[in-house]
Amino acid sequence: MATRESSGHCLCGAVRFTGLGAIGPAEVCHCGACRRHGAGPLMSVYFSEGVRLDASDALKWYASSKLAERGFCGACGSVLFWRMHGAEKPSVSAHAVDVRIESIAEHVFVDEKPEWYDFADSAPRITSATMRERLEAYLEKKRAEEEG
Ligand SMILES: [Zn+2]
Ligand SMILES: [Zn+2]
Repeated sequence: MATRESSGHCLCGAVRFTGLGAIGPAEVCHCGACRRHGAGPLMSVYFSEGVRLDASDALKWYASSKLAERGFCGACGSVLFWRMHGAEKPSVSAHAVDVRIESIAEHVFVDEKPEWYDFADSAPRITSATMRERLEAYLEKKRAEEEG
């Protein structure tokens, strides 16, 4: 099967990329860091084969924690990517890609969501405690891989 390609770009067009492979449903993160950085919950998608950067001179990365960093356009400020440090494939802003997103997979860090907004979909709601468990499992797997 040929790799599917999905174009995407920031608001000003200085950062352009291509999502490679199958595109997953959106994950919506309600954590405080995502909301502060992006003026709303981070709605991101994941490409099975990762992302190819086609124009990235304006792309800036901000290490928002010891574990992860956020990619954005240094010219227009568009929030574009999120990834664990050292991860190959970033999560990509669902609003920066030009293809239609089918649905929401899940909402995460829902206990950090303020009460004054709500989504009407019925996707699973995942708490920060569960996300911490997932993170531990991810780090454990990574450690095991590094030890080879
Ligand atoms: Zn831009
Ligand atoms: Zn978040």
